[in-house]
Amino acid sequence: MDSGISITAEKLVEVTAKYASQIAVKEEEYVKAVGFSSREMGQRVVKRVSFWLITQNSTLLYCRLCNRGPFTKRGMFLHLTRMHHSEIKLMLEEEIKREIKTIL
Ligand SMILES: [Zn+2]
Repeated sequence: MDSGISITAEKLVEVTAKYASQIAVKEEEYVKAVGFSSREMGQRVVKRVSFWLITQNSTLLYCRLCNRGPFTKRGMFLHLTRMHHSEIKLMLEEEIKREIKTIL
């Protein structure tokens, strides 16, 4: 069960970094990451975690985890995936656990 959560979280890290960086994420990317039946759960989890990742000041993006910036969308995405991969994964795991609790 826990390793399942870890695998799901890992698959959602890139999508989360993308969403947080305000790069459009297609529905099929959620389906690819978590499967068709869990895609809505995936979207909720990604949205919630993204909230903690960036601060926006007009069109400029700043990292909320380390206060670096400003970044372009692409720069923000690269920063998040390179510098904060494991933190984002942990945050995703927590949110996925919460989702599972509300289902059970
Ligand atoms: Zn950062």
